[in-house]
Amino acid sequence: MRETGCTEEDLLSFLADTQAKDTPYDRILSSMCTRPHPLAVRVHTMFMDTNLGDPGLFQGTASLEQRLVKVLGMLLHCREAGGYATSGGTESNIQALRIARKLRKVTNPNIIIPASAHFSFEKACDMLCLEARDIPLDDHYRADIDRVERLIDQQTICMVGIAGSTEYGVVDPLEEMAAIADSHGIFFHVDAAFGGLVLPFIDGAPPFDFAIEGVSSISVDPHKMGMSTIPVGCFLVRDPAALGLLNIPTPYLTVKQGYTLSGTRSGGAVAGALAVLEYFGREGMKALVSGCMRNTRRLIDGMETFGYPVVVQPQVNVATFRCPAAPAGWHVSWTRHGHMRIVCMPHVHRDTIEAFLKDIGDICA
Ligand SMILES: *Cc1c(COP(=O)(O)O)cnc(C)c1O
Repeated sequence: MRETGCTEEDLLSFLADTQAKDTPYDRILSSMCTRPHPLAVRVHTMFMDTNLGDPGLFQGTASLEQRLVKVLGMLLHCREAGGYATSGGTESNIQALRIARKLRKVTNPNIIIPASAHFSFEKACDMLCLEARDIPLDDHYRADIDRVERLIDQQTICMVGIAGSTEYGVVDPLEEMAAIADSHGIFFHVDAAFGGLVLPFIDGAPPFDFAIEGVSSISVDPHKMGMSTIPVGCFLVRDPAALGLLNIPTPYLTVKQGYTLSGTRSGGAVAGALAVLEYFGREGMKALVSGCMRNTRRLIDGMETFGYPVVVQPQVNVATFRCPAAPAGWHVSWTRHGHMRIVCMPHVHRDTIEAFLKDIGDICA
């Protein structure tokens, strides 16, 4: 640390220069994050100094968090769902597995999880000493339902299904998976970190949420398609009492116990997330999602004209292609199977897609 402080002016200029090294969102086609809605930014600033880790002191902000849980619970077909605002899908997934582990106490616990699962489960299994048993994928990069049952044994504590997979944007056969989990009395967690704020706004989308009877808990991230500021995810459980399994005493706080994984948590992004959802309403979210899906279709059509076929028809706004390289200046990502992956987030406008396709065309020429 420097002995004497730096001037504010020098510091801000240093920070601005450094920030200029970041990639502008206009060129980012690889991320599930996006520019937050201006309202989210405004509300985040307003609630910047609140700490949801000590809800007794910030009862107003804490009630906004519970309202966010209510809004999302109702959207995902469980009015009575319990939950709280996490730092994102990773924390939500960890919490789901913690609950499952406490519900079924066995000596060598394992979980059954699609091979396409997000890497957050690897962290969770490492922390919780769980064995992960991969469900192989079918031709559509979804969990192969015929290969689920044989993975289950007496030590299985949880099954996971994905609603909008991170890499291929597909939805696992969740109804069938839930039925299998239910028949064995196994906790069934749906990772809808991405799809949870996309699928409810697409006509004819497959069921994925608490409308499916066997679904025990869901991860859904407002900081992805909810256009909130980072960080805010939401962990929802059908039975609110399940959260109590995670309670530990919190001696010096205003409330005497807590079930969250993180301690101090800003209410900024949480209030912002609620504000955006209330501001948009179902209609606004539908318009947002329709736009992203239209752009996804346009991208797929465009890529196919250049001879780069889509790998699988996505069910959310994530498209993958058999295409060897991206034009210079664009940030796409690559799946573990070597496919080009593009996420058509709200900042990826129609013009962006057209500009990208033009550059792809120039490579082909
Ligand atoms: C993004 C994502 C996660 C992880 O969420 P973070 O907010 O990055 O912690 C988990 N699961 C799925 C399916 C995701 O798309």
